[in-house]
Amino acid sequence: MSSLANNYNRKKIAFLKGKGSFLYSTNGSKYLDFVQGIAVNSLGHAHPKLVAALNKQSKKVWHVSNAFQIPEGEKLAKKLTQHTFADYVLFQNSGAEATEAAIKVARRYFYSIGQPKKNRIICIKDSFHGRTLATIFASGSKKMTEGFYPKVPGFDHFKFGDHTKLKKLITKKTAAIMVETVMGEGGIKVIPDWCLKGLRKLCNEKKILLILDEVQCGIGRTGKFFAFEHAKVKPDIVPIAKGIGGGFPMGAVLMNKKTASAMVAGTHGSTFGGNPLAMSVGSAVLEVILKKSFLKNVTKISNYFHLELKKLQKQYPKIIKEVRGAGLLVGLQLHKDQTTFIKKLMDNKLLTIRAAENVIRLLPPLTVKKNEIDLAISIICKVCKNYK
Ligand SMILES: *Cc1c(COP(=O)(O)O)cnc(C)c1O
Repeated sequence: MSSLANNYNRKKIAFLKGKGSFLYSTNGSKYLDFVQGIAVNSLGHAHPKLVAALNKQSKKVWHVSNAFQIPEGEKLAKKLTQHTFADYVLFQNSGAEATEAAIKVARRYFYSIGQPKKNRIICIKDSFHGRTLATIFASGSKKMTEGFYPKVPGFDHFKFGDHTKLKKLITKKTAAIMVETVMGEGGIKVIPDWCLKGLRKLCNEKKILLILDEVQCGIGRTGKFFAFEHAKVKPDIVPIAKGIGGGFPMGAVLMNKKTASAMVAGTHGSTFGGNPLAMSVGSAVLEVILKKSFLKNVTKISNYFHLELKKLQKQYPKIIKEVRGAGLLVGLQLHKDQTTFIKKLMDNKLLTIRAAENVIRLLPPLTVKKNEIDLAISIICKVCKNYK
């Protein structure tokens, strides 16, 4: 009997080691891993550059308090600001912490300019921003908040695509709109470019902040460093996590100058956030992803993947309803519940993971090769062929 809490529905499989796109199970099977820790292992398993960076730093210094200078963090923050909209970075350990810190930054900004009553955040209903008390109530999801009342106040919700409701929700008390650029857990729903542009315009008109949660869709996943770059918009605050550590737990909030100015000494902190070990691995991840041809390759291979999946959808329109997503953040929406399909893919040695709306998420590492995409397609095809 396990002593682990029962809060996960775990598959009966464990792994001995991983390499690139593959995982090797304790019972001797080799799996094509299109989960990658849910878009976390952006460079696949055991990438030599990440192994080297971790090893090297582990022999120097693991952890020091944020009461001191941390050059490894300076280096990573510099890289992030040089390549993005951001002027300042605040390091955290996870996605939920990063989104929660983003909420704090938005509120503190209005407080700092003498408008403390502007503190409400507008979010999409049934979105996902993490599992802390504030972030579950930000998600507006009944399932995630059940049993965890009293409610954390301060969040207003509109349904994905309901522009009329969104406009109605904006009041004198609104501080920010916070949405996932691509809704991950919610079913790989992409906010179209024209909507992101509209959101930016709306926020400018109403003098409120735009927070884009890129915890799942950021760090190269969609073929641009950030998913919102496709729409050429600039948010004010962006929480990131998952892909930035390549498997090492870390998160961050990226801020423009205006909002960062509110975060003076003492306003926020974290014991572990930004420690040298995490920072060294994060820098190594960025060194690979920010190489010029790297993201072009992500775009190229993901276009191929989408094309092949669309062919399968045409071939099996009664099973596959829609191919969704952007870049290597891919959703295969079925007409019916996806549980059996995911199980059959696993029986055929392809690991995938569910999302809402009957969606199967396919999250290869950004380093995935064409023959690995072909292998995944052949497995999905085989499962379709025998699926009733
Ligand atoms: C995963 C995720 C989070 C939460 O990240 P954790 O590291 O699990 O706390 C927040 N926002 C989005 C969009 C996510 O996909």
